[in-house]
Amino acid sequence: MFEKTTWIRLPRNVVVGHGVLDQTIEAVSELHLTGRPLVVSSPTPHQVAGSRVVAQFEDAGYDPDEVVIEEASFDAVQRVIEYAEESDAGFLLGVGGGKAIDITKMAADDLGLGFVSVPTAASHDGIVSGRGSVPEGDTRHSVAAEPPLAVVADTEVLAEAPWRLTTAGCADIISNYTAVRDYELAHRLKNIPYSEYAGALARMTAEMLVDSADSIKKGLEESAWIVVKALVSSGVAMSIAGSSRPASGAEHLFSHQLDRLVPDGALHGHQVGVGSIMTEYLHSGPKGKWRDVRDALSAIGAPTTAAGLDIDDETVIEALTTAHRIRDRYTILGDGVSEEAAIEAASVTGVI
Ligand SMILES: [Zn+2]
Repeated sequence: MFEKTTWIRLPRNVVVGHGVLDQTIEAVSELHLTGRPLVVSSPTPHQVAGSRVVAQFEDAGYDPDEVVIEEASFDAVQRVIEYAEESDAGFLLGVGGGKAIDITKMAADDLGLGFVSVPTAASHDGIVSGRGSVPEGDTRHSVAAEPPLAVVADTEVLAEAPWRLTTAGCADIISNYTAVRDYELAHRLKNIPYSEYAGALARMTAEMLVDSADSIKKGLEESAWIVVKALVSSGVAMSIAGSSRPASGAEHLFSHQLDRLVPDGALHGHQVGVGSIMTEYLHSGPKGKWRDVRDALSAIGAPTTAAGLDIDDETVIEALTTAHRIRDRYTILGDGVSEEAAIEAASVTGVI
């Protein structure tokens, strides 16, 4: 008897384009959500977009409430949960870069409420994915939250975000190359379920982004368009896989470990990009494709070295040798890379 079951949760409305922030109400009203909208953002995104979204809901006769969170932490998630309960919110909108959206997603999951993602920066694939994570002390809370019901990505707003956020989003996509390799490896060695479709989509997304590198330039709104579409596509790959694996392998473990070692380190996407150069080396050796990964990153202006991340060499080695402990996810790091091997990988690839 055939007993396989798959659940694929995808966003229902994905609205991308110039000025679409003004269509938030339309994107939301089609979802048949009821009750008060609660708009969650952090200070700058609130100014740039959050207040506009609140005003729209007011004009349309909803009774919106809003909360501005200062930092990405587990406390902030708790605060949003309490705030939502007090204000009797019916659904949540996360307006921001990574931070506000991750927090909203996690709060919505806990509350059992619908959630809409309104990114103000194309900085990482968390804007579309079901997974949320925030640091807490020495650890990271990473939860499988539901993906957003809708994504409203206004390229005019995204293009105004600091450029480094866009290059970080690009680097997060480029890291799909190594994430998919780890995904395949875990399937071969540990028999974890593997979706060909999700793997192929994640890899194709990275290839398309790299092929478009010439159009990804500061000041071009088209860049925001290309990057956000790639982030959506990466999020869809994760939804199809039912796991973040197609877009998150050893390079992500490395980045999470850096976050613990250097709390105010570099951007997520920039860290995974540098991680990806080294984990590609670990996968395929000196003659492998690590140069392609590095060249793709440098073509879009993302860092390719420890110095570029403003993180010292010793910390990079420490993160690479301890990253496998972050979570139970099998990758090329196996049960740990020795210090000598880490130094070799980081120096041959020019990361240190
Ligand atoms: Zn990522």
